[in-house]
Amino acid sequence: MENVYTSDGVPGRYWRALADGRIQCDLCPRECKLHEGQRGLCFVRARTSNQIVLTTYGRSSGFCLDPIEKKPLNHFLGARSVAFTYNDPVIFLEYAVDVAAACREVGLQTVAVTAGYIGKLARPEFFAAMDAANIDLKAESFYKQLCTGSLDAVLDTLVRQTRELNIPPKAVEEVVPTNIGRSRAPEGD
Ligand code: SF4
Repeated sequence: MENVYTSDGVPGRYWRALADGRIQCDLCPRECKLHEGQRGLCFVRARTSNQIVLTTYGRSSGFCLDPIEKKPLNHFLGARSVAFTYNDPVIFLEYAVDVAAACREVGLQTVAVTAGYIGKLARPEFFAAMDAANIDLKAESFYKQLCTGSLDAVLDTLVRQTRELNIPPKAVEEVVPTNIGRSRAPEGD
């Protein structure tokens, strides 16, 4: 799908209008329900002119040459590869998918470093564009208490990615202190 640029960003995919006038973003299981002008919890997607737009398309915050083991992927043979990380590429799906396609055209492979917190409709497009994925798996309390998320959605991604999308995931378990700051309140419900 070709992206159409506007001053507000690139039209986002995976959203729908609700009967109460709000628009629901279905890109991730957070399912932000937005009024005009509001941004989602990820803060890079917003409702503008009665659609969801990705406001950060093409705006990378940094580039770095790293060994692939740092992702960490020690069995990935993509010596010449591009990894999407910091922030999670799920929230800028349209940009990540386009960059991944451009990489394939020049023989580069791509790696998604992600929390795996992605909606079921968006999941096939996102992972089909990637050659490898590193999915962080944390304790259930982390998702509930710090992210207003759920472990089930991440496990669903891990299972479906393996079964249906044929991309072997690399699950990374992390120990996260429970006293780190809580996520800010979203604008949308
Ligand atoms: S957090 Fe971002 S990607 Fe997730 S539903 Fe909200 S607006 Fe969409």
